[in-house]
Amino acid sequence: MRLLELELSGFKSFADKTVFRFDDGITAIIGANGTGKSNVSDAIRWVLGEQSLKHLRGKGSEDIIFAGSDGKHKGQARVSLTLSNESGRLRMDAAEVRITRQLNRSGEGEYRINEDNVRLWDIQQILAEAGLGTKSYAVISQGTVDRYLNAGPTARRELFDEACGIKALQLKLKKADRTFTQAEQKVRELSTILQEMEPRLRVLKRQALRFQQRHELEEEYRVAQEDWYTAGWLDRSSYLSKLRADSSDTYDQLDRARKRREEIEASLFRVLEQNSEREKDTEINDAGHRLPGVAEVRDAISQCNEILQAILSGEEQEDSELRDAEKKTRGLLNRINAVLSYKQSAKQQGRSEDASEKDSIRKELQSARDTELAAERESSAASAVAKHAGEELEEWEREIQRELGSDFLSQLPSRPAPADEEEELENKTRRLEAKLASIGEIDPLTVKEYEETRIRWEHLNSQLQDVLQAKDDTRRQIDLLKKEMLLRFRSNF
Ligand code: ATP
Repeated sequence: MRLLELELSGFKSFADKTVFRFDDGITAIIGANGTGKSNVSDAIRWVLGEQSLKHLRGKGSEDIIFAGSDGKHKGQARVSLTLSNESGRLRMDAAEVRITRQLNRSGEGEYRINEDNVRLWDIQQILAEAGLGTKSYAVISQGTVDRYLNAGPTARRELFDEACGIKALQLKLKKADRTFTQAEQKVRELSTILQEMEPRLRVLKRQALRFQQRHELEEEYRVAQEDWYTAGWLDRSSYLSKLRADSSDTYDQLDRARKRREEIEASLFRVLEQNSEREKDTEINDAGHRLPGVAEVRDAISQCNEILQAILSGEEQEDSELRDAEKKTRGLLNRINAVLSYKQSAKQQGRSEDASEKDSIRKELQSARDTELAAERESSAASAVAKHAGEELEEWEREIQRELGSDFLSQLPSRPAPADEEEELENKTRRLEAKLASIGEIDPLTVKEYEETRIRWEHLNSQLQDVLQAKDDTRRQIDLLKKEMLLRFRSNF
């Protein structure tokens, strides 16, 4: 590994681009005091990653940017150093390695290896692995030879470490230590947050479980309630149908009883009519026995009265007139008596003839009336019971509509009959209702909060597990590095 070239631009006293070629043999740069010889070695240190301003003989980082007064002010300092890598000492697949460092006045810095942007750490790592660090013996500043000769054990150890590549492992170890510390810090932070979250998470989980339980119970309750209403509706409907059929039977019975009574009445009426016809016939047949009219009788009586009045008042009356009146009156009375006695005997004869027939019809009529009355009572009782059952069914349907809506109500006839009895289903529904009441209402937002909190908790917990894993890995890496450093030290020593 050899230094091939150094290119400066805007670095300290080198305002213009200046290229130094280091060919075979020794290259010496000579010049009067203060002409900038040491600025060249500063440039080498700087480009190799030197961070100490003291070592660069400056106070602020901008001191390394050209600040001359000859109008060549530059906005930036840039140094590129080219090394041959034929030996492969630099862990890079390239024959030459060009390292560039650049700094702007704004303080913005940049590192490049073979024109690829890299971090300072990458440069330090590559150089350290090759035993070429800023603190190594590769660059010996003016007046520092004594420092190495007079160095104490710690400084010598540092030189030794740098020379046999332990420095690179130290850098790795430092980085791993930093990672380990950061991991420990992160573990503490995450553990604290998780611990703080846990009580709330437990409360929310309980609430969410209760919500889930409530949700399942509500579903069970809904099914039980639907079954109960269905069973109740089917029971009431079939009961009502049966009652309606019974009621219709009683109406049929009543109808039959009524017709029977009417028939009997009609036959009685016929018998009575026949009798009256016969009586009329009797009267017509015995026209001679026709009763005199009331007017005729009244006339005869008034004639008799006149004659009697005349006699009593002393008026002279013809005997013949008196005899006529007497005769007329007597005749009338005789006729009345004769007719009445004839009618009486005729009636008695007719009655005795029809009595037995009429009695049997009347008895039959009475029994028909009784039957009709009983049928009437039965049918009105049956229709009252059916009406009551109909009202109960309507009330049941109103309740169903209120509880489960009209869609459910309209689907009832097509719903299958539940396996359990109505009473059993009612008890089940009431039991579930009581359970739901004991759980109480749960805000669905609680469940949302639980889900969010749980996801956040799991996310943080998985982060914690990752960090713990990384911490373990780093711990193992640290152990390995320490072992490797010890091994390298022993073999090189
Ligand atoms: P000596 O032989 O006395 O050690 P030298 O040749 O090594 O001197 P340096 O110390 O490298 O010279 O250079 C010093 C010169 O560099 C000074 O003239 C100083 O003004 C100039 N210089 C240092 N920093 C800057 C800068 N930022 N801008 C311009 N010139 C600078």
